[in-house]
Amino acid sequence: MAYDFDLYVIGAGSGGVRAARFAAGFGAKVAVAESRYLGGTCVNVGCVPKKLLVYGAHFAEDFEQASGFGWTLDEAQFDWATLIANKDREINRLNGIYRTLLVNSGVTLHEGHAKIVDPHQVEINGERFTAKNILIATGGWPQIPEIPGHEHAISSNQAFFLKELPKRVLVVGGGYIAVEFAGIFHGLGAQTTLLYRGELFLRGFDGSVRTHLQEELTKRGMDLQFNSDIERIDKQADGSLKVTLKDGRQLEADCVFYATGRRPMLDNLGLENTGVKLDKKGFVEVDELYQTAEPSILALGDVIGRVQLTPVALAEGMAVARRLFKPEQYRPVDYKMIPTAVFSLPNIGTVGLTEEEARDAGLEVQIFESRFRPMKLTLTECQERTLMKLVVDAKTDKVLGCHMVGPEAGEIVQGLAIALKAGATKRHFDETIGVHPTAAEEFVTMRTPVAS
Ligand code: FAD
Ligand code: NDP
Repeated sequence: MAYDFDLYVIGAGSGGVRAARFAAGFGAKVAVAESRYLGGTCVNVGCVPKKLLVYGAHFAEDFEQASGFGWTLDEAQFDWATLIANKDREINRLNGIYRTLLVNSGVTLHEGHAKIVDPHQVEINGERFTAKNILIATGGWPQIPEIPGHEHAISSNQAFFLKELPKRVLVVGGGYIAVEFAGIFHGLGAQTTLLYRGELFLRGFDGSVRTHLQEELTKRGMDLQFNSDIERIDKQADGSLKVTLKDGRQLEADCVFYATGRRPMLDNLGLENTGVKLDKKGFVEVDELYQTAEPSILALGDVIGRVQLTPVALAEGMAVARRLFKPEQYRPVDYKMIPTAVFSLPNIGTVGLTEEEARDAGLEVQIFESRFRPMKLTLTECQERTLMKLVVDAKTDKVLGCHMVGPEAGEIVQGLAIALKAGATKRHFDETIGVHPTAAEEFVTMRTPVAS
């Protein structure tokens, strides 16, 4: 049968755009549908605007530290509206770049909500198109528990467009988004409380990283409330929010921001017209080739719920395009040693196994850890400390994990990830000459393991 397209991609986010562009580049006839914004979550309400706000928040400490270097500044003023307007302008520019990238690579762009009507057919804006393969790349959506008053809370989707900076913010959650946005609000001057239901935030990260960040945020004056969860939210006559916790305590805030994970975006997608199956958590189930239970339909990125990171969606998009249209170049995505950063203030950068994961796997490990006050701060009052940690396999000498909390941790860990991917041993680290004076050189100068 002749189809309108070889590949119909639903969702022009990180994974969808990558798959569409590469598939078209390999000679396939490709369409991509997008209902909201070109570039998807990362460009519009994710990585990019978030990082711009983190940069904005970072100035607070730069101004504070400047006097130690002889600078005298008038009292710094911050204007939220200017930051948001400038951010919006940059995102508009990026949307344009995504449009050009798609069109120039020969992809047909359909703007509207796409619905699958049968395993080879998609409906959009009242028109139907057939395709040999359909790729679901519809991403995720913030998930807010349905407690009484949840309609008064916002998610990251709204946070990027607030008309003004709230004076008192309550951030709920202990994952990436909660920690990053708590840092943004706190840095920009809001009185910020981070409320997390468990013992200690950032579950799954290395224990030293979690406690180190806890100490640093506390030093900065952020109010961290662990073992705390919200029972209900009530709007008061003056517009502020009264938050009642499960233990009966009450807090007041002008904004309650939930960052409690993301669900797959499958709304009105028409999966009932296909044999696509969902996993236990409701994400689209795929095999190692991103094939769903319906032979003509594939899925990738956040909607499959594996690793919700842009570079992972990009790698999956590339793998799908190659497998379908350039099989001789196909290489599976390697999910081991994925480096990641949390753009909290200070940043976290991490790659490889945590100490806990290594021990749970039954490995005999040596731990190298260094905590120090960075040189830049020696002329300032700031007491922030940086943490660097290596998890080493005592038998093979292989470095299993690198973890850092401190300025530019994400930038530093990217290079270390290459070393770990290449199988670097602690001896390789020891024989590497440092770059002096940097903070990063500490990763190659830790000589003595800490007592276990
Ligand atoms: P998305 O980028 O979400 O794209 C899906 C697209 O599909 C969307 O544009 C959506 O509008 C469209 N769509 C959905 N349904 C339909 C339909 N039926 N018809 C047509 N179009 C449809 N990752 C990092 O690596 N680093 C970071 O710093 C980082 N920061 C983040 C910060 C925040 C606040 C958030 C929310 C996420 C962040 N992420 C970060 C995660 C990253 O954004 C995602 O992992 C990534 O965007 C996933 O790409 P995707 O292609 O799977 O989906
Ligand atoms: P995460 O999964 O990272 O964290 C969710 C947090 O919410 C956890 O602390 C979880 O607690 C808590 N939680 C879940 N359900 C509830 C509930 N019902 N009540 C109270 N707390 C709850 O999700 P995020 O929303 O922070 O981010 C989504 C994903 O986006 C991330 O996992 C990451 O992959 C990606 N991202 C990446 C970034 C980066 O690369 N820098 C930045 C931002 C997002 P518990 O641990 O107890 O389950």
